[in-house]
Amino acid sequence: MNKPASVPEHFDAVVVGAGFSGLYMLYRLRQLGLSVKVFDSAGDVGGTWYWNRYPGARCDIPTTDYTYSFDPELEKEWTWSEKYATQPEILEYLRFVADRHGLRSDIEFSTAVTSARWDEPAKRWRITTDRGKEVRCRYYIMATGCLSMPKSPDIEGAGRFAGQVYFTSRWPHEGADFTGQRVAVIGTGSSGIQSIPLIARQARQLTVFQRTANFSIPAHNGPAPADRLEQLDEGRDAYRHAARWSRGGVPLEPTDVLGVTASESVRQERFETAWEQGELFGILNVFADQGVNPASNDIVAEMIREKIRSAVKDPETAEALCPKDHYFGTKRPCLDTGYFETYNLPHVRLVDLRKHPIVSITEDGIETADESFGFDAIVYATGFDAMTGALVAADVAGRDGLSLEEKWAPGPSTYLGLMTAGFPNFFMLTGPGSPSVLSNMTVSIEQHVDWVARCLEDMRDEGLETIEPTALAEAGWDQHVQDCGAITLYPTANSWYMGANVPGKPRVFLPYIGGVDAYRQACDEVAAQDYLGFRMTGPGGARCRDGVVRSMQPDVAMVLEFVAALGLPPMETLSAADARALMAATAEDRPPGPEVGEVTDGVIPGPAGDLPYRLYRPAGPPGGSRPLVVYFHGGGWVLGNLDSDDPLCRDLCARSGAVVVSVNYRHAPEVRFPAAALDAFAAVQWADANAIELGGIPGQLAVAGWSAGANVAAVACQLTRDAAGPHICGQLLICPVVDSDMTRPSYEENADGYILTTALMRWFWDHYADPADRGDPVAAPLRGDLQGLPPACIVAADFDPLRDEGVAYARALEAAGVPVRLTRARGHTHTSVTMVDVVISGAPVRAEIGEALRDFFPSAEPPGM
Ligand code: NAP
Repeated sequence: MNKPASVPEHFDAVVVGAGFSGLYMLYRLRQLGLSVKVFDSAGDVGGTWYWNRYPGARCDIPTTDYTYSFDPELEKEWTWSEKYATQPEILEYLRFVADRHGLRSDIEFSTAVTSARWDEPAKRWRITTDRGKEVRCRYYIMATGCLSMPKSPDIEGAGRFAGQVYFTSRWPHEGADFTGQRVAVIGTGSSGIQSIPLIARQARQLTVFQRTANFSIPAHNGPAPADRLEQLDEGRDAYRHAARWSRGGVPLEPTDVLGVTASESVRQERFETAWEQGELFGILNVFADQGVNPASNDIVAEMIREKIRSAVKDPETAEALCPKDHYFGTKRPCLDTGYFETYNLPHVRLVDLRKHPIVSITEDGIETADESFGFDAIVYATGFDAMTGALVAADVAGRDGLSLEEKWAPGPSTYLGLMTAGFPNFFMLTGPGSPSVLSNMTVSIEQHVDWVARCLEDMRDEGLETIEPTALAEAGWDQHVQDCGAITLYPTANSWYMGANVPGKPRVFLPYIGGVDAYRQACDEVAAQDYLGFRMTGPGGARCRDGVVRSMQPDVAMVLEFVAALGLPPMETLSAADARALMAATAEDRPPGPEVGEVTDGVIPGPAGDLPYRLYRPAGPPGGSRPLVVYFHGGGWVLGNLDSDDPLCRDLCARSGAVVVSVNYRHAPEVRFPAAALDAFAAVQWADANAIELGGIPGQLAVAGWSAGANVAAVACQLTRDAAGPHICGQLLICPVVDSDMTRPSYEENADGYILTTALMRWFWDHYADPADRGDPVAAPLRGDLQGLPPACIVAADFDPLRDEGVAYARALEAAGVPVRLTRARGHTHTSVTMVDVVISGAPVRAEIGEALRDFFPSAEPPGM
């Protein structure tokens, strides 16, 4: 019996969208015994596959993988006919799933949700629809898809055209017949590239208006690949499991071949194999470094450009079709069938909008800056307001009436891409900040739905009714999402991943690029840690375990994983000689660091014999004088030498524009305290006395060091002050050892697992100084008189046992009236900041260090890089 319209219906959950994610969400919620209503503005199930019916529409992940895995029987009953199924077949599949599980009875089609308001006292959402209906629910779940809100045509005169207008994203159900017509297609993303060859088959004339040339590789479509089918037949569960724990949601062994170091034949072989395979994740995995290293990326990009040049006969058209303004992969690459060859047809023409911009769309065609075109039909393949568009447009207001639109005005903010603070019980499936569009969507959808379902089940079991992320957890996740993007080339492109395709949209990297596997791990950890970062309330009580699930820089975490996999013995269990050999061996294959103008080796007289030094002169005209930095390497007074810190010294030289003189000092246990410190003091005096010969500017001298090298640098500053000279302009102390008291919290927090361990630090001290000497300021400069010391830049890394003593030294110097710049190496370990060209996220920290060094000097020249 129908209820009167004025009485709102109540459901446990309302889901918006009946595509892949909405259908599975409904299925899982029903399994939990919850009452559910699904709304979709479409006339049937299908989501994106309901709307995008343009000719040539297909998936771009092999259909064997682009499929549900939750129902093994369903998998047996459905066989995909092609490697990349067409839109009608995928839509048919989703209808089949809906029928098989009787899902339609809970779905209200042709009904759009127009607003949602959180009712705090009732702890319910109030939802209204465009049919004037109001419903109430406890959980409001957006299954609205990432690419569902078409971008409105932002072209002058778009409304004026009197001919037929089509949008690839809203294609008419009855289809379109272009036979005998003059057709324009605007846009050359995936939708344009898939539809253009088929529109060309019908049209009398086809003109393609291209703003940005796009990378596309041939799909080599056909029957589903035999090897994939075999794998599935042999072990479907194992295959699906591998997909869930892969980087992109399709099982694939990530390569470790680096583009920059691979031989030409290896490059060719790997590229051609990926080209022939015709799969997105294959072509994105030619080289391990193509997503992060411009030089490696350009190797793949140029190989694709060569393929385009050989496919397109007219050289000018070919060149216009070659993408040159973004790195390969940083805009979604396309899979095509005969796209580039289409331009060899006599009736097909490309208009390069970079050279011939559209001035206006007119009543009968399109006017560019230098030509008027008449058309019978215009097809807009101009894309979507991706990832946030549909969510924001749904008019959601959370606690205190704050709307999602207002909250996300500076860019979306989410915890795990699943929820956002201030919007209790509001879930997003594949929301911004989750792998979504960078992954096989079906795998990511199932993971999100399963997580939400388990969360609701756990809440029910524990008598909890509301859930919402904390501000801390959300800010931590937002930061992690940006950190993951920042070490890649992705943020450099004007892509929809960056929101750059929609005028006025904030430029933020929207998806999570850390990988489906890493993401799943993070979500599982959150749930396992009592829903870390979520606040939950209900009759069962209120609880909140606040925290940040990932705060380490992603590339630092990768290095640690790599090191852990090597299974090396803990250094503190080795002899000094073996520890030195191990350190030298691990440094063998690392990148050399940046080029500098000149590197020369020499010796200086030390208090007990010669000390080797290496001088780094910045690039620039010969003979020019520069400020001078005397640098001391790290290694706990036991390890290290001029080679160990060579890449870092090059980096410091290039960034600061100073001459860097790296001085080796005597090591323990052969020569113990205070030899290293006294050598450092002598080196500073010698450098000052020989400034002109070294190419330095007299009076412009700074000292620098890392770890134990920073210890001796800090001590040298104190000894120099006590000796009344020479004048030191500044001290750069990177993760310094400044105290022998190992009771500060960072020794506990970061005791193990971050390369420099508390045990190793103890081993270093034991090698260097007798316990009775460790309170001496020459060993522990924090205990010295800090008045009148040079300005300092101190770098303290989050995951360093030495973090707190570095911070303590900064505070103590400040208290003594010394100007201090404390640089927090966020998400870094003791060693990672110094790993030049290995840990990309260290570069911004070293940029700050370079700036601090330049600031030490009164008349520093601009850096050479
Ligand atoms: P898109 O990738 O955003 O491409 C839109 C195209 O329209 C771009 O070439 C864009 O140029 C152009 N454009 C936008 N506004 C314009 C303007 N005012 N003037 C001139 N040109 C303009 O959109 P899409 O092709 O619909 O694809 C979006 C995403 O959907 C894909 O990246 C993919 O993830 C997914 N998709 C997948 C498939 C599949 O194979 N399964 C098929 C279709 C779509 P600029 O690049 O200069 O902005």
